[in-house]
Order: sequence, then structure tokens, then C-alpha cells
Amino acid sequence: MQVLTILGATGSIGVSTLDVVARHPNRFRIFALTGHHQIDKLAAQCLQFSPRFAVVANAQNAAKLTQLLQQNHCATEVLYGEQALIDVASADEVTGVMAAIVGAAGLPSALAAAKAGKTIFLANKETLVVSGSLFMQTLAQHNARVLPIDSEHNAIFQVLPRDYSGCLNAHGIESIILTASGGPFLHSDLNNMAQITPEQAVKHPNWSMGKKISVDSATMMNKGLELIEAHWLFHCPPEKLEVVIHPQSVIHSMVRYIDGSVLAQLGNPDMRTPIAYCLGLPERIQSGVNALDFSKLADLSFCEPDFARFPCLKLAYDALNAGGSAPCVLNAANEIAVAEFLAGHIRFTDIARVVAHCLEHHDLSSLNNIDDLLALDKNVRQQAQTFSGSLKG
Ligand code: NAD
Ligand code: MG
Repeated sequence: MQVLTILGATGSIGVSTLDVVARHPNRFRIFALTGHHQIDKLAAQCLQFSPRFAVVANAQNAAKLTQLLQQNHCATEVLYGEQALIDVASADEVTGVMAAIVGAAGLPSALAAAKAGKTIFLANKETLVVSGSLFMQTLAQHNARVLPIDSEHNAIFQVLPRDYSGCLNAHGIESIILTASGGPFLHSDLNNMAQITPEQAVKHPNWSMGKKISVDSATMMNKGLELIEAHWLFHCPPEKLEVVIHPQSVIHSMVRYIDGSVLAQLGNPDMRTPIAYCLGLPERIQSGVNALDFSKLADLSFCEPDFARFPCLKLAYDALNAGGSAPCVLNAANEIAVAEFLAGHIRFTDIARVVAHCLEHHDLSSLNNIDDLLALDKNVRQQAQTFSGSLKG
């Protein structure tokens, strides 16, 4: 029986995770569920899964959730705040932690799970972008394990050799190929990109996801973050990482071997597949995802990404190559820019401008402890906020 903490249970990945968990009551027990503000949704999840703890953002939300649970005779204990996230991610009886909080806010709890030697089901790619070196070191030091939930990295994980050692050459691997849908604006007129609205940007053609990652997919910053994620997860040098646009999102990523073989993982675009793969390992378990219907797959197409259309992807490549704290700066600036865009304060095309501005104005030293990284993250957020303010109107 696996005992799970689901960080970010009320989000898109959290809900998909609980859907898979509910299909296997004899395999999984829920220790804790966390959510930030969607208290009614979290209450319903507590009633269904009876976790020992539920964690919310603040005292006010905690009081509301406690009242809802008591009305329904649910014994789940309610906690709040950052330390509570860390506590439920590292509690002794927990065997696995789904890290599905969005943004750098998910970093301290994911890191705590690593320090506690847990198996971490990692959806929160920002953890590896902000603190890749530190996170990977922490995993190794504490005998913890990371299993990739992000569909591309999960696909790569599935098609790499079972005994993959972290050395591409030793396994005859030429490169790792990340596929990208290209998002909703792959073919839009470049002259109209500045007028794109938040409603248009969050409508992804294939995937149903949270708002932040949906905007990241539209700018292709998501693929940029995923390049950095793949670099750390698979010990892959930047020059061995390829990105190919594949608008149908059926091939979730590939590994190119030196003999000319390319191994791919295919499936319908539904996050329950990678979630079930990781939760079930080493066995395959039912995920509820429909079988892939090849008769409807007449058209699988591919093209190269265009940096003029997707400047955020170029910025992410640059940050990956620069190394050190550049990916942390990239991520913090992007989180603010996306929030400002979603709030209607800046234009879609300003997102890349904010990120570029912050990258240009930071000393990109190498940081390897959580306090320094979080201080830099905070500092860049302020800078991104100020620069966004100067773009308004
Ligand atoms: P979402 O916005 O749907 O959910 C985010 C969750 O995090 C919610 O439960 C929310 O309550 C919680 N949260 C938000 N801010 C918080 C904070 N400051 N402190 C604590 N909790 C907070 O996001 P999502 O789409 O489920 O994505 C979650 C993570 O998974 C992201 O890092 C994303 O990049 C990654 N991911 C998502 C998908 C997908 O299909 N949705 C695919 C691959 C990777
Ligand atoms: Mg992905």
C-alpha cells in the first residue's frame, strides 16, 4: 500500500491524480491533500478520500474548511501555511509525494520530500528550473527518487533503457527529442500576436491544464522550462536536446539512438497516463484513458520551432546555456509576466520582454542553497513587477 501526499490536489494534475487513485483503492491511501484557495473542492476531496491532513494557504481558509468538514463529520485535520506543506511532504508514514503545486511556490515542499527520502512524482517542473542542481544533489544524498509526471519527460523515461545511468554515450543515445504542440498560436498572424487575450491564450488545442502552464504553452516558455527540466532529469547536455513541433500531441517525446532508431511513446493527451505509469511502477495499472485510435490518426505532422514567433523558447535556451542562476531568473520573471498578462495588465508579446529585461539585468552567478535561490526569486519578481508596470497602457 502506497501512502500518498498530493500537493496541489485541487489543480488539474491533482484532480487527475485522484482520479487514478480512486480506481485502485487497494494500492493507495491518502495521507494529505493540499490546496490553496479552492476550499469547496478540497472539502469534497477530503470527504471522498478521508486524508489524515488537509493543508490550505491561510487561517481564514483553514477555518472555512474545518467548518465544512465538521458539518460532514469528516475527521481530516486542517493545517495551513508553508511549514504545513513541508510537514505533510516529509511525514514518516508517507511513501510518495505528488508535487503538483504550480510555480516556484512548489519548491520548498518538493525539496523537503527529497530530504525525507521520498519517492517524488514530479509535475512541478519549476522546482528543477529554479533549483535543478540542488534538487538533484538532495535526491542523491537522501536516497530519494524522482519520477517524471510531465508528459514529455515521462515519455522519455519510458523509452530510455531501464538501466539508464545518466550517460547518453554509454547507452548509444544520440539525443533526446522533446515534442511540443506549438499551442494555440502556431499559425496565427505574427502581426496580431500583441492583441491575443488571456481567454484565447488559455485555450490549449489538445490539453486541459491550469492557466499558468496553458499560457506557458502558448508562448512556448513551457517547452523552454521543459528543456531545463530534461537537462537535469536525464543529465543531458543542452546540445543533445532537440525540440520538434508536433501539433497533434500524440507522440509525447522520443529518444534518438546512434544506430538510427528513434523510440517514441504515444498516447492520447491525458495526464492520467503518465500519472498512472509513475504511481504503478514497476507495474502498469489502469488509468481510465481511452485507447489510442489509429484509424483517427491519419495526420501526424512535425515542424521546427520558430524563435521569431516564440521568443520565450529562445530565452529559455539562452538561460539553459548560461546556467547558474539564469534559469531561476527566467522562471521568476515569467511567473510575474504571465500573472500580469492574465490580469490584463500587459500584452501577450510583453511576456518575453519582461523575461528578457530581467535576464539582462541580473548578475547570473551560481547559487546552490535554497535561501539564496528564494531571495533571488523574490528580487526578480519585484523587478519584473516594476518593469511590467512600465509597460502598462
Ligand atoms: P493548477 O493551476 O491547475 O493547480 C495548481 C495547484 O497548486 C492547485 O491545487 C493550487 O491550489 C495550488 N497552489 C497554487 N498556488 C499555490 C501556492 N502559492 N502555495 C501552495 N499551493 C498553491 O496547475 P496544474 O496545471 O495542475 O499544474 C501544476 C504543476 O504541474 C505545474 O508546475 C505545471 O507546470 C505542471 N504540469 C502540469 C500539467 C497539466 O497537464 N496540467 C502537465 C505537466 C506539468
Ligand atoms: Mg509537458
